[in-house]
Amino acid sequence: MRKGKLSLVIPLYCEGEHFSKTFAVIRETVEQLPEAYLKGWECVLVDDGSTDSTWQSLESLARDYPEQVRALRFSRNFGKEAAIRAGLEHASGDLAIVMDGDLQHPPSLMEDMVGLWADHDIDVVNAVKADRGRESLLYRFFVSCFNFLMTHAAGQHVVGDSDYKLIDRKVIDAFLKLGERRTFFRGLINWMGFRSATIPLQVQERAAGQTKFKVGSLVRLGLTALTSFSTIALHFVTALGILSALVSALLGLYTLGAWWSGRAVEGFTTIILLQLMVGSIIMVALGIIGEYLSIIYIEVKGRPHYFVAESIQPEKKNNLES
Ligand code: UDP
Ligand code: MG
Repeated sequence: MRKGKLSLVIPLYCEGEHFSKTFAVIRETVEQLPEAYLKGWECVLVDDGSTDSTWQSLESLARDYPEQVRALRFSRNFGKEAAIRAGLEHASGDLAIVMDGDLQHPPSLMEDMVGLWADHDIDVVNAVKADRGRESLLYRFFVSCFNFLMTHAAGQHVVGDSDYKLIDRKVIDAFLKLGERRTFFRGLINWMGFRSATIPLQVQERAAGQTKFKVGSLVRLGLTALTSFSTIALHFVTALGILSALVSALLGLYTLGAWWSGRAVEGFTTIILLQLMVGSIIMVALGIIGEYLSIIYIEVKGRPHYFVAESIQPEKKNNLES
């Protein structure tokens, strides 16, 4: 049986209109967690460069709950992945729970999560979507394609995975040691191993407002996930090259044969079709290589994941600033 301090890590982007109420719900749930499990708790709230009143609401929460609330404000929007990372870097607990700040991740699951950590020595508790809430058909289609590629190309089972996770201190430290800039939190936590368990998650309605993820950022996250777990796309380029070389050899033999026997193939249409086919194969191949190149470019620059413009730390704890 384990007992420790819990750090809640919540990334927030433009959640000002409801976050005071949302925090009240989360706080009440944490305060009711069995004392046998916890030595105390804190909440690391990361304002990911919001353009609304999110930071004002974090400031007032930090005033109302000076012993629990630690707040950071990014200098601009760096994205949820960076916000999760910052939250974990500034967390001082023996275990952390990462959750969305819009109540789509029901706080009521925390008791079971902490119970698994405390009673069963589980280091990673994944909340896995039992249903996908309200998502459009097109979105589901893309998610299915992504899941298929992740499972079959990258060998990572991420079906239904969410960012709602409990992780033990050793998993936090291991995650923070990973050197990459472009991260895919939920995939990396699974990839690291450690003793894990899953609990079903019924995705709730948003507390207010709407999703902050645009199609573009989802596609980028998908590409980050695929490229960071697998180089199979590059091998696919090689395979495509070999295949088109074989086809060219066969076609070449056929064309020469036809020429020798005096019946040359119809010229113009064949040339146009071949040009288009070879051209698109080359463009796709270049695109795939470009994706990996851009990842290498970003990694090589080694820029920080985020910049903190302001931070408020819990009273009596000033040893956390890094
Ligand atoms: N979020 C963030 N930075 C961003 C986008 C989102 O910190 O650039 C936060 C957001 O405030 C929320 C969580 O990440 O707490 C999940 O975002 P959202 O609800 O918009 O996504 P969805 O639930 O639709 O996946
Ligand atoms: Mg949400």
